[in-house]
Amino acid sequence: MNETYFCICRLKLQINKMNILILVTGGTFDKEYNELSGELFFKDTHVSEMLKLGRNLVTIETHTLMMIDSLNMTDEHRKLVSDYCRNAEQDHIIITHGTDTMSETADFLATAKLNKTIVLTGAMVPYKFGSSDGLFNLGSAMAFVQTLPKGVYIAMNGKYFNAGNVRKNKISGVFEEIN
Ligand code: GLU
Repeated sequence: MNETYFCICRLKLQINKMNILILVTGGTFDKEYNELSGELFFKDTHVSEMLKLGRNLVTIETHTLMMIDSLNMTDEHRKLVSDYCRNAEQDHIIITHGTDTMSETADFLATAKLNKTIVLTGAMVPYKFGSSDGLFNLGSAMAFVQTLPKGVYIAMNGKYFNAGNVRKNKISGVFEEIN
């Protein structure tokens, strides 16, 4: 048994004991479809159901901060998210968020220098539609938040991006690096 083996064991121990906070802010991820009016709307978050479906065994606390379309997110909303992250006991935080202004919120949080690992994620299609990328993205965010160093990231399309160097390509509908 060598030093690498012990390092891997220590890392596994840390990951198994990890405590993650999931902050819900809304976005398509959590939208529902009203069959009568044909409109999308917010009710409750699906995060707990998704974690159960994914057979999650990591200790998670979930808190709904707001349920809004991210196009309506202001800097006041972002300050609320940032303050909640700062005051949370957890150092590993996932934020579910609408994709349209996810990059802006990531920038805002990076500027706040919170010294935590924060991963924003969302979905292009509502989880409730059954063909959503939400479960996949939440799973990716779970893995990234447990393994990336302190910083602010976006997890979408199976990739992670650093805050400040990511945007949603509004033509192709995928996230990409700016530089
Ligand atoms: N306008 C929506 C939002 O950003 C876009 C859909 C989405 O969540 O991806 O909340």
